[in-house]
Amino acid sequence: MGISELIENRIIELAKKYQEDRSNTIHVTDLTTCIRKSYYIKKYGFPMDKKMAFWMLFGALVHEIVNPTIAEAFNGQTEVRKTYKFGDIEIEATPDILTDNMVIEVKTCARVPERPYSSHQEQINAYLHIFDRPKGLIVYISRTELDIRTFEYYGDAQLFNYTLDKALALYKALESNTPPDCNIPLSERKFYCRNCQFRHLCELDSYLQY
Ligand code: SF4
Repeated sequence: MGISELIENRIIELAKKYQEDRSNTIHVTDLTTCIRKSYYIKKYGFPMDKKMAFWMLFGALVHEIVNPTIAEAFNGQTEVRKTYKFGDIEIEATPDILTDNMVIEVKTCARVPERPYSSHQEQINAYLHIFDRPKGLIVYISRTELDIRTFEYYGDAQLFNYTLDKALALYKALESNTPPDCNIPLSERKFYCRNCQFRHLCELDSYLQY
């Protein structure tokens, strides 16, 4: 085995250790991306390649360093988990940092954005509702420049209802073993589908479903 292969295998092995098996639970983060993809991940497992593994490990490392520091500074706690009941559906919520009046999410990215990504807003919005906190902070940390940008976010009840609708759609899809429709608007789909590891299966299922 060459040294490149040795390193790649180790990175992938470590990244897999960081991954929690979520095949039998619905998490907020399953609902803030393409729920059709979330369905495939639950059915077939998370497809790990070297790029994804490195990205995940780097993110995990930054979180391990930064989250306790932020939590201590704001008198908060890290990785507090709560199960939110929505009818028969249980939704797992684990914000990065929870304080008495705030939820803080830390995101690593290539370049800090001008405004927060809509999926991150939806994620923190769900946490604000589930933990009943009035204010959210989304902190972006650039992987390449250590540029840091913070955005405040305040709750949006309508957006939370939209997230719950997706939870219902995903739940029903898992129960019936039928992939749900993609929830991503056509204008944004290119971004999501471009690097989706389930693209081939998704196209095949679409062909069979319609
Ligand atoms: S290819 Fe696109 S629509 Fe299909 S599962 Fe992947 S992200 Fe969703």
